[in-house]
Amino acid sequence: MTPGAVGSLRLLGVPIRLHFTFVLLLIFLIVIGLGGNQTPGSYTLFVLALIASVLLHELGHAVVSSRYGIRTLEIVMYPIGGVARLERPAKPREEFWIAVAGPAVNLAIAGLIFAILYSQNRALNLFALTQPSAENLADRIALANLILAGFNLLPAFPMDGGRMLRAILSRLKSEYEATRIATWSGRMLAISMGLYGFIYMPMLAFVAFFIYLGAANEGAASRGRSLTQGIPVRAAMMTEFHTLPHGSTIRDAANLLLSTSQQDFPVVHGDQVIGLLGRNALLRGLANDGPASYVAGIMDREFPSVPPSQDLAEVLPLMAHAGACVLVMQDGVLLGLLNSDNLSQFLLLRSVGLQPFEG
Ligand SMILES: [Zn+2]
Repeated sequence: MTPGAVGSLRLLGVPIRLHFTFVLLLIFLIVIGLGGNQTPGSYTLFVLALIASVLLHELGHAVVSSRYGIRTLEIVMYPIGGVARLERPAKPREEFWIAVAGPAVNLAIAGLIFAILYSQNRALNLFALTQPSAENLADRIALANLILAGFNLLPAFPMDGGRMLRAILSRLKSEYEATRIATWSGRMLAISMGLYGFIYMPMLAFVAFFIYLGAANEGAASRGRSLTQGIPVRAAMMTEFHTLPHGSTIRDAANLLLSTSQQDFPVVHGDQVIGLLGRNALLRGLANDGPASYVAGIMDREFPSVPPSQDLAEVLPLMAHAGACVLVMQDGVLLGLLNSDNLSQFLLLRSVGLQPFEG
């Protein structure tokens, strides 16, 4: 789960969360809308239609990625649009079509409204957004969708156009180079929008801030991918670690936590792993149940595990949140642990030129 995101709504099986900055934007929109000369009803409808358009845009991405067999873990709504977290990174060709799907949905919505207006012998009022009224609600929704499509097609990260640009560039250059160019264009766009915004339109500076953050995040994520792609999990995993027998008490676990640098302990019954006890669960158990109770009662029985041959880049999304730990197992036998600490050590060593060796 992405930190800072609230609420959960499920559409086509995809959890959708609102980032708190998105909630702030909604409040802001409602407050400025109240001062306008439209009826509260028509304004509310307009804001709801905008949110629905952004959601449909994201579902467009999710539908296409599921056609490539990539599950969308969650969609988080930010002020500049939604960000989908995918189960595994998409290949350039897949990424291109996944990215196209979002703006295509907005163009389709606008096209549908044009067609309906046309069938009623009405032309689109191009200035509807600056002259809002109850009569031109449909015009405004169509124009807003055109703007959404145009904005998302800008060839800069983290916009869809930036992803399309990267997919095209990665046919000519390495993924890392392609991302660097798309990220650079995202930063340049954010800086120029920010400067323009400061002088003429404060709202634009706000948007620019999120584009800059998004471009920086995407750059870091892609750097992580390029350092891990093609490397098996076994090259980075911790092979020296402690386990807890299933009859251990929380006190035993706490002692192990203090005497080692380990934060997550596989709980074993003989050779078999039956659970995983993380630091947070341990602290919670200590506070709620006391030191004499058994770890079996508080451990996580559904722990993530991967085979040692799995591509490290594919495990990165699992490690995205702080404190994440994945067990490396082959045929039910525990071979190692992978946590965010040793993964970042590995990335650090890789970035200064370590060639991974296979053990
Ligand atoms: Zn999109």
